[in-house]
Order: sequence, then C-alpha cells, then structure tokens
Amino acid sequence: MTFRLNKTSVEKDVHVSTARELVNRFGTGLEGNIAGVTFPKRSIVGSPQIVSQQLGSCSNLLDLISERQPKTLSDSNEDSVTFLDLPKEVISKILQKLPDHIGLIEMAKAHETFEALVDGQAKLWDRLSQFHFTQEQIDKHKTKEFTGRPLFFTLKKYYGLREHYADLIHICCHCKALFWKDHGHPCVSRDAPSVRVTPQQFVDMLLFL
Ligand SMILES: [Zn+2]
Repeated sequence: MTFRLNKTSVEKDVHVSTARELVNRFGTGLEGNIAGVTFPKRSIVGSPQIVSQQLGSCSNLLDLISERQPKTLSDSNEDSVTFLDLPKEVISKILQKLPDHIGLIEMAKAHETFEALVDGQAKLWDRLSQFHFTQEQIDKHKTKEFTGRPLFFTLKKYYGLREHYADLIHICCHCKALFWKDHGHPCVSRDAPSVRVTPQQFVDMLLFL
C-alpha cells in the first residue's frame, strides 16, 4: 500500500517536474539568446523584444505549473489542468509530429477529443502524406474531394511508407564489418562499397545466425 502511494506520488511529481524542466530549458535557451554573441545560431528565435516577451510567458508558465499542478487525464478531476486544456491548435500541432498513421489512430482511441481532431482534420493526414510521399505521387491521386485519410491510405497501398532513420547500420562489401554509416569503420580497403541494413534485416540476420 505504502509502495503504491509512493509510486503514485513519484509519478505525479515526474509529470510536474518534467513540465517545469521543459519550460526552464526553453527559458535558458532564450536567455542565451539575449546574451547572444556566444550562440549566434539562437538568434533565430527573434528580436530582443520578442525574446523578453517569451521569457515573460515562460515565467508565467512556471507559476502556472506550481499553482495548478497539471495532471494526467487519468488522475484529473473537474478542476484539474490537463493536456486537453491546451488550445486545440496546439494539440493539433503536437499530433502533426507523430511519424505514422499508427500513432494517429492510437491517439484517436485514447480520448474523444483526439478522435474528433484525427477524424475531422484532413490537414493532419495531409501532413503525414507529405512526409511519406513525394509531391508527384500525391498529385497523381489527390483530387478536390479525395484528400486526408483516404488519400493517405491509397498512397500507402501504392508506394509503401518512407523509412526514416537518424542513422543506419551498413555492411561493408569488402570486410563484411557491420558499422554505423555516420561513424565508418577501419577497413583494409579504402573505398569499399557498403550496403544498408534496415532494422528488420538486422533482426533477421540475428535470427538466422
Ligand atoms: Zn570494410
């Protein structure tokens, strides 16, 4: 019993401290921007006026997190602040970051608000189509009436989803070494060709060893 109570309080604390950490980190990045010179890349966040406005928003958010203690949907009651209190546009933006249709469909199952967004916003599916397919492929099938979810699944049927990885394992055709593409490998041959190994192929290789 005590363990369960401890676990629950730890989990709640994790949500709040994660939120606080995210806002803090964003704020520190902005402050770096005001200091400016050492991190020229950060100047993309905007003019000094906009940066100080955003720093104000950060500080308000930190106050809000401390005062209202945001909760997960399962722990919430009528007065709680939850993820769903974010403006719909912001939730929609977050959903647009999901990399595939499975993520969208699972989100739709999780709550009726997500379901309404996933079913009602063709834009979410169009974004996904733009990520996985070329403009040429999209134009071939898209019409005024045929967009969004049905278009995505038609394109998926015809062309398959794009596989996107930060780095891929390669196998050297000369010494048969497996290596990360970005890191290379020590090889007796200077310019030996290599072929990529997808995660699925890598698992298959291990199974057949
Ligand atoms: Zn090699």
